[in-house]
Amino acid sequence: MAQNVEKVVVIGSGPAGYTAALYAARAALKPLVLAGSIPNLPGGQLMITTDVENFPGFPKGIAGPELMDLFRQQAERFGARVLEENVNAVELGNRPFKLKHDGGETLAETIIIATGATAMWTNAKGEEAYKNRGVSACATCDGFFFRNMDVLVVGGGDTAMEEATYLTNHARKVTIVHRREELRASKVMQERARNNPKIGFLWNAVVEEVVGDGKKMQGAMIKNLKTGEVSRVDAQGLFVAIGHKPNT
Ligand SMILES: Cc1cc2nc3c(=O)[nH]c(=O)nc-3n(C[C@H](O)[C@H](O)[C@H](O)COP(=O)(O)OP(=O)(O)OC[C@H]3O[C@@H](n4cnc5c(N)ncnc54)[C@H](O)[C@@H]3O)c2cc1C
Repeated sequence: MAQNVEKVVVIGSGPAGYTAALYAARAALKPLVLAGSIPNLPGGQLMITTDVENFPGFPKGIAGPELMDLFRQQAERFGARVLEENVNAVELGNRPFKLKHDGGETLAETIIIATGATAMWTNAKGEEAYKNRGVSACATCDGFFFRNMDVLVVGGGDTAMEEATYLTNHARKVTIVHRREELRASKVMQERARNNPKIGFLWNAVVEEVVGDGKKMQGAMIKNLKTGEVSRVDAQGLFVAIGHKPNT
């Protein structure tokens, strides 16, 4: 018997995946969403956060998992089908495309890959323990929680300059920790950061350890790569801005 061919398969169930599924469903394409399962996160990254305060339409904010449940309900209302399975391989050489996932194989005329990206971390001691308790990889998401506090930003590229500059809207002081003596960021982004009186720099420096009281981060042990000296810098936030890896 000929295998059924899906018109549209969406891989991923974060905001991008469910938005694609909603539009495909409303175009009567009956999309199948392969939502991921452990170690991937059905519902995407917002499943591991508390308040989302910048999503339009929710003036009081909304919990990440609640928002993603609404995304799912909205896509399902128009006929999207959701399977909480990982896609382990895709064959794109011939049409229809072939997807191999936890529960079997599926053929598809179209595949939308919405598997998100994973932030890169320094992997310093204590970093994992203080994630969401001071350590973050998203200034626009979390900057607001650091009003009048001191924060560190790790990185030397455009993202780090942008995150640092953005954070000055909220924080008292922003210190960029960079492992070299020169920035990789574009000239214009560098200038913007260097000319900002709230931004300082620690050159040739890396975060050795994030320290705190077990509940909240209170500072970081910073190692000077030239002298080897390790010293404590007090800060309530650490924003890691050293890039993202696409989950393709
Ligand atoms: C702790 C935290 C807090 C955040 N807070 C905010 C905030 O307040 N405001 C804001 O604007 N942004 C916030 N963000 C950023 C936001 O979560 C991301 O920008 C957004 O989730 C990206 O959406 P996405 O759909 O592209 O990818 P993701 O949300 O990363 O979703 C990727 C999806 O792909 C699936 N997947 C991956 N690999 C496979 C596979 N092989 N097979 C099947 N499925 C797969 C996963 O299961 C997941 O469903 C936050 C991020 C984090 C980590």
